[in-house]
Formats: sequence, structure tokens, C-alpha cells
Amino acid sequence: MSPPAEAAVARGRTALVTGASSGIGRATAERFAAAGYRVAVNYATNAAAGEALADRIGGAAFGCDVADPVAVERLIGAVEATLGPIDVAICNAGFYEERPLGVISDELWERTLRVLLGGCFHVTRAVVPGMRARGAGSIVTVASELALVGGVNVAHYVAAKAAVIGFSRSLARELAPAIRVNIVAPGAVDTPLLPDRDRGPGYTSTVPLGRIGRPEEIAEAILHLAEAPWTTGALYSPNGGVVIQ
Ligand code: NAD
Repeated sequence: MSPPAEAAVARGRTALVTGASSGIGRATAERFAAAGYRVAVNYATNAAAGEALADRIGGAAFGCDVADPVAVERLIGAVEATLGPIDVAICNAGFYEERPLGVISDELWERTLRVLLGGCFHVTRAVVPGMRARGAGSIVTVASELALVGGVNVAHYVAAKAAVIGFSRSLARELAPAIRVNIVAPGAVDTPLLPDRDRGPGYTSTVPLGRIGRPEEIAEAILHLAEAPWTTGALYSPNGGVVIQ
């Protein structure tokens, strides 16, 4: 059976997805594999889920805490030794914990910045020299619609995600024309990260399109921006119409 035309286009290219053992990262790894990429599945601690996904999509799994710059340097080396040069890096790893300002601990503040913003910084810094040497590369960072409008009890999370947007827009200018950097800023998506409160009618009745998003819909947006040849510094927020600007 001949492969789909889409798979033929991207065959031989390698994509790294951080935080790929669940949710949006998993759907993104699956979508890129379907598009013909060799996919590096990064997981933090859930090796079983990472390995199972990599087996299923014909990729390879790599454990790494993206908050650790030394570990990320090793990750990029290991991915490129195993799957070849990274053509597309997707900085997706993250977590979400709600806390009112008065009880945001120094530890949570620093961990949030280290994982959400530091993860993008560490991966980008490590992957860019190779992309530059090859004269091509594409990076997609995952922010949040909350970075556009703010949120209650999430100042630490929103600060980090807004910084991801500024970081990505700056690098879009600095790394052009060889390397493109784009941002996907999802609204509420059905993954383990989302509070149950936001799955019910109390929230979905406020969404113009009447429901929360599916991880596959965010994966599609990430693939589109990763491959859009005349687009850099763009922010695309699939959010059901909650944020229109
Ligand atoms: P998820 O919890 O299903 O997936 C997050 C993944 O990141 C997990 O696999 C987790 O293990 C991994 N991760 C966390 N810390 C890590 C670290 N230090 N190193 C490596 N991996 C790490 O949640 P998700 O909804 O799929 O989240 C993916 C991204 O999308 C996150 O950046 C999140 O902030 C963002 N986002 C999610 C939503 C939503 O509603 N689900 C909305 C906007 C933005």
C-alpha cells in the first residue's frame, strides 16, 4: 500500500515533542508521526507511557526534565544521535496549579518559571545551533489563552506563559530567516491538566462554540504552524471563541 501523500512530504524529518506522554503532547506526537515525521517522545517521569506511545507511532522515547538545562543538552544530543537532526521542536511540557496570590510559594513560583518558561528556553537554546548550521528549523511553543487575558488564582502560570510568548516573538525576529518560531495558545482542552470544573456546563456554557477543545485540535494547529513556510512570530489561539482579538 502506498503511503498517504502527506506522509511522503515529511518523510525523513525529525520532530521533538516535550511533555509527550499525555494530553496535547501525546496528540501532537501522534499527529506528527501520521504526517511522516520520526518523533522523539519526551516524558518527565512516566517512562511506561512514553515508551508505549513511541512504540505505537514508530518513534523513540526520551526521559528528561525540561527544567534542567544540562539534562536538556543531553536530550537533544540523544535525540539527534538516535533519530537524526531535529527539524521541528515543540516546547509543550507544562503543568497547572491554581493558587491565590497569598499562597503562591517561592517554590511554586520558581518551579513554574523553570518548567514552563525555562523548558522553552533550554530546548530552544540547545536545538538552535544545529538548525542554524543546517540553515533550517521550526520551533513551536505552547502558551495559553490565559496569557492573553489573565486568570484568577494563576498569576504564576500566566506570568510564565506570557513570558513564553515574548520569548518566542523575540526569537522569531532573531532567528529568521532560517528558523521560524511560532506560538499556539490553547483555550481549555480536555487533558488531565484541566480542572474538572471546566469540563461542566458552568464553563462550557460561556464558550461561544459550546465545548472545550480536543487535544487533536491543538495538535493540528501545532503541525500547521510548524510547517507554514511564510509564518513566524505568529500566535494562534484555538479557544472556542472565548478570546477574540
Ligand atoms: P498534560 O498534563 O496532559 O501534559 C503535560 C505534560 O508535560 C505531561 O506529560 C507532563 O509529564 C509533562 N511535563 C510536566 N513537567 C515536565 C518537565 N519538567 N519536563 C518534561 N515534561 C514535563 O497537560 P496538557 O493539557 O496536555 O498540557 C500541555 C501544554 O498545554 C502545557 O504547556 C499546558 O500549560 C498547555 N495548555 C493546556 C491547556 C489545557 O486546557 N489542557 C490550556 C492551555 C495551555
